[in-house]
Amino acid sequence: MTRLGKDLPRQAGLADEHGRVARNLRVSLTDRCNLRCTYCMPPEGLPWMARGSLLTDDEVVRLVGIGVHLLGIRSVRFTGGEPLLRTGLEGIVAASAAFRGPDGAAPHLALTTNGIGLARRAANLAAAGIGRVNVSLDTLVPQRFAALTHRDRLSDVLDGMAAARAAGMRPVKLNSVLLRGVNDDEAGDLVQFALDHRYFLRFIEQMPIGPADAWDPSQVVTAQEILDRLAERFTLTPLEKAARGPAPARTWLVDGGPGAVGVIASVSWPFCDSCDRVRLTADGKVRNCLFAQEETDLLGPMRAGADDEEIAQLWTDAVRPKPLWHGGLGRAGFVPPARTMSRIGG
Ligand code: SAM
Ligand code: SF4
Repeated sequence: MTRLGKDLPRQAGLADEHGRVARNLRVSLTDRCNLRCTYCMPPEGLPWMARGSLLTDDEVVRLVGIGVHLLGIRSVRFTGGEPLLRTGLEGIVAASAAFRGPDGAAPHLALTTNGIGLARRAANLAAAGIGRVNVSLDTLVPQRFAALTHRDRLSDVLDGMAAARAAGMRPVKLNSVLLRGVNDDEAGDLVQFALDHRYFLRFIEQMPIGPADAWDPSQVVTAQEILDRLAERFTLTPLEKAARGPAPARTWLVDGGPGAVGVIASVSWPFCDSCDRVRLTADGKVRNCLFAQEETDLLGPMRAGADDEEIAQLWTDAVRPKPLWHGGLGRAGFVPPARTMSRIGG
């Protein structure tokens, strides 16, 4: 039965009760990963989702199509776990690139990756339709990389980001999580590296969404601390919010520009008021917030024969109660989600 339009007109897309509209879809393609970043996953890995419980390539494409055609999704970011572990990624991207929204526009397609294997696949991914890429890079010191990720793969990551640039992906963004006493002394070096290679680096405050013992509020390297540290070496000029739109990073020009640095301060400066994201897990659940306690299954109804309108309605209903904010990370009363980051999609 089609119920679209019951409460909200179709044009409202994925609107929530607080007036925000989700136009930015993050699709996790797998919970597996070939690194073990200490803040994300235990060294032994996690109990992986059973293969049969994951969305197939066709199911991912169908959901992206429903998002773009029926629900106002304008950009899609493929993530994980590590999305490059998904062998069908290029096909998923190419099929997604063929969709058009009601205004005739193609969705912007992006990838968040640890970069391992990107050197080999960047050209094909760009040809398939990936325009933008975020690569995680927490350190430039090989021994530290090995300690932080439990794998000695820094050179693969650096090759991957270079290949993304060479393939024409723009921007190539770098994501860095600083950990006290581990890599926080590298903030300036990471920024300089990004400036030298014309990448756009954003620091991400560590969030309580990894292994339970990996997060201690008193140990978080805060946005302010990062800025103070950078200010010892660079002149930082803030960019106005209008210039960055709903993007979560606050941005500063470095030494007058054009290079810039961003800080995603989910802990210190939550950006929920302008959040335009919705997430789809690798096992087909809609999450209206990274920190949501509830999720809505689309995979079961899809496999039971639900049509596109019915899936769209389930999705719309899932987004409507999106919380106004994520409840104050690490403060009294905050309850971390049952899934960790790699099982949600970062
Ligand atoms: N494997 C890919 C990667 O590392 O880019 C994609 C998935 S990963 C979960 C996405 C992003 O989440 C990465 O930039 C990673 O640094 C970040 N991340 C993971 N755990 C985090 C945590 N506890 N706090 C803040 N950021 C985290
Ligand atoms: Fe893997 Fe990304 Fe998590 Fe690191 S942050 S363990 S690369 S999913």
